[in-house]
Amino acid sequence: MTDRLYGLPIVAALALCVAAAPGLAQQAPDHPSVTVNGKTYTPRSILARNMGGEADPYTPFGPYRVIGNIYYVGTNTLTSFLITTPEGHFIVNSTFERNLPVIEKSAAQLGFKLADVKIVLGTHAHGDHQEGDALLKEKTGAQVMAMAEDVPLLEAMTPGGKPHPIDRVLHDGDQVTLGGTTLTAHLTGGHTPGCTTWTATAQEAGKTYNVMIGCSLRPPMVPTPQVVETFRRTFKTVRALPCDVQLGDHGAQYGMQEKYAKMKEGSPNPFIEPATCAQEADLGEAMLNALIAEQQPVR
Ligand code: ZN
Repeated sequence: MTDRLYGLPIVAALALCVAAAPGLAQQAPDHPSVTVNGKTYTPRSILARNMGGEADPYTPFGPYRVIGNIYYVGTNTLTSFLITTPEGHFIVNSTFERNLPVIEKSAAQLGFKLADVKIVLGTHAHGDHQEGDALLKEKTGAQVMAMAEDVPLLEAMTPGGKPHPIDRVLHDGDQVTLGGTTLTAHLTGGHTPGCTTWTATAQEAGKTYNVMIGCSLRPPMVPTPQVVETFRRTFKTVRALPCDVQLGDHGAQYGMQEKYAKMKEGSPNPFIEPATCAQEADLGEAMLNALIAEQQPVR
């Protein structure tokens, strides 16, 4: 097993999403800037948008039903989705271990029990999205499944000395089914090697909608040729996925708080917005191209 990923020692790679925390990010030079869909972004502004303020990653948001059997049980800036079925539930993204009580309480407010969680999935092997997997399995006995390319990073994620559980290793295109609901895993690497975009369908008012739970498409400050090549494939993949409802691993990737504010009984569901499904790919690609233009990739 390699102890390096994308030319970085695993420990350094593991810290990437959490290095989103202001302290580290502010030391880095904050360029380039790119303008996408009328908004200007820098590497630091994308981090700030994703993570929010100090308390946001730990502050419960909602909970609420997004669409069909898909519910939001996460925080202001870190998403966690509870997908319910008559045979038990999925959790996509356990987030930080300390957020497990948030997830449990949110599920209970919606009328569901954490004990009924049978399958734990994630978008990518960074602590802010999957650190809670081990504790969640301990509490529920759920099966934890992960994309093969993220397994080395997950194995290095051992909060409180607990080994990261992996009950099933997934590959691009694999399907996970429980109680009549199927989630399909799409390999969309770059942010981490096994970054996973999940697709599913959900029913509302007699119609079926394609739901996409996207993985972060934020490139590292120094994209290696391998990362660039991986992202090129990923942007194509993401744009080709069927999508009526775009979700992600940080709410700001899909304007969660703004859409939530528009939810109203009897009005169209604001989360159904196919036109914005490719916006994170547009932003990630523009930033990647700007980074390449600005600095020679490391060889
Ligand atoms: Zn991350």
